[in-house]
Amino acid sequence: MRNYGIRQMRPAARVLLICPDCGHENAEFAEPLRSMRAYACNGEDCDYIFELAAPRQQGGTGFAEAWKRLYSAVYAMCGHGAR
Ligand SMILES: [Zn+2]
Repeated sequence: MRNYGIRQMRPAARVLLICPDCGHENAEFAEPLRSMRAYACNGEDCDYIFELAAPRQQGGTGFAEAWKRLYSAVYAMCGHGAR
């Protein structure tokens, strides 16, 4: 895993949200994120919003879909460096 000065991450407790817009890596604890509907990117001059849950369908399905997208973004970035 890459390290950009982020303190040691516990794999199970943290989620890396990589912004597709500016590339900023937002490392956040997984637990608080679970109760959030959206998460704003911390990158400078960037207002990208990660949608953690679809507003229309407030069931577990929308959340699961968003979660999958987040992880696929993470894997895509990791794949770049691993090649
Ligand atoms: Zn961003």
